[in-house]
Amino acid sequence: MNPPITFNPGPAQVYSLLQEALQEAYAKGILSLPHRSKAFEEMVARCRLLMQQKLDLPANYTLLFLSSATESWEVIAQSLIRERSTHLYSGAFGERCFAYTQHLHPAATGLAFELNEDPCYLLEQIPSDSELIAITHNETSNATTLPALFLSQLHEQFPDALLSVDATSSMGGVVLPWTQADIWYASVQKCFGLPAGLGIMCLSPRAVARVHEIGESGRYNSLSYMLEKMEKNQTTYTPNVLNIYLLMRVLEHIPHIIEIDWKLQQRAKTWYRFFEEHSLWQPLVAYASNRSVTVIGVQGEPTQVQAFKQHALKKGIYIGNGYGQWKNHSFRIANFPAIPDTHFQQLLDVFSTFQSV
Ligand SMILES: *Cc1c(COP(=O)(O)O)cnc(C)c1O
Repeated sequence: MNPPITFNPGPAQVYSLLQEALQEAYAKGILSLPHRSKAFEEMVARCRLLMQQKLDLPANYTLLFLSSATESWEVIAQSLIRERSTHLYSGAFGERCFAYTQHLHPAATGLAFELNEDPCYLLEQIPSDSELIAITHNETSNATTLPALFLSQLHEQFPDALLSVDATSSMGGVVLPWTQADIWYASVQKCFGLPAGLGIMCLSPRAVARVHEIGESGRYNSLSYMLEKMEKNQTTYTPNVLNIYLLMRVLEHIPHIIEIDWKLQQRAKTWYRFFEEHSLWQPLVAYASNRSVTVIGVQGEPTQVQAFKQHALKKGIYIGNGYGQWKNHSFRIANFPAIPDTHFQQLLDVFSTFQSV
C-alpha cells in the first residue's frame, strides 16, 4: 500500500525506499542500538562521509546531529553569539529565528525585506560589529530563495562575521555554496525525504574556532560539548538513531547532488512556466531569480485557492497551505527530490480537471 500523495513542503513525501529500510532497521536491531556502541559510531561516520560524497560537504566542515532546525536557532544563539547578531529575513522562519535569538541576546538586529525585494540594499544597514549574520537560504513560508551572489557579497563586506544559513528546505535538494558560509543547518523532513525529528548542522573550521573562543558550555546542546562528542562520532544524548540510520540509507540511495539539483531545476522551470501562463494562478514570487526551486509558491483568489485545495484532496492529493500573511491567497507545492515525476503528472491532472468557482 502506498501512502497518500503529499506536496506539503514539510513534513513532506518520504522516499519510498523507507518501507524496506524501516523493516531492515527493525530486523537489524537499529531500534535498540546503544548510542555509545561501535556500530552506532560507524553509522555516524558513514553519514559524515556520505554527506561529503553525495552533497559535496567540504571534508573540513563538521556534521552534527540535533533534533530540529528550531533547535539549531537556539544552539547558534547560545554557543556562537556573544551579543550582536544580525538577521535578514523576508518570511516567517527567518523572523522566528530572529525572535528566539533576541530572547537570548536583546542586542540582536533584525532587518526585514519584502517578498519581491532584492535584499542587497540591506547590506548598508548591517551593523559593522555584527559577530554573526543569519539568513534563510530558502524561505519555505513564501517560496523565495536568495539571489545567487548574495552570500558571497555578505562574505566580502563582512569578512569577520560568521554567516549562518538556514537551509532547511534546500539542503539535499540543490547544490549549496558551502564554503561561502560557516554554519548551515536543516531538518530532514523536507528535502531529505525522511520523517521529522532529526536536525543537521554543518560547521566550518571558522565556526568551530568561534565555539572554542566563546567557550559556552554546560548544556546538553552546548556546541563545545557536541563537537567533543562528535570527535568520536557520538552525540551528547540518545539521539534519533532510527532517523540517523534512515538518513544513511537515503544518502546511499540518492544520486549526486548535481544530478538532483538539475532535475529539480527542470521541474521548477516547467511548473513556473505553467503558472505564468495560467489564467487563475500566478507564481507567488514575481522575479524568476528569487523563486525557490524546491518550494513553488502559487497565488490566486482566496476562494479559488480554497476550492482548488479541496478538489485536489478529493483526488487524494494534499497541497501545501499558504503560510502566515500569504495563507489565504496562496498555496505551496513541494518540489522535493523524493517526489516522483508520476506524482507531478497526477498533479497536472488535478489542475486540468479543476473548475473555477
Ligand atoms: C521547516 C523549517 C524550519 C523548522 O524546522 P523544524 O524541523 O520544525 O524545526 C526552519 N526553517 C525553515 C526554513 C523551514 O523550512
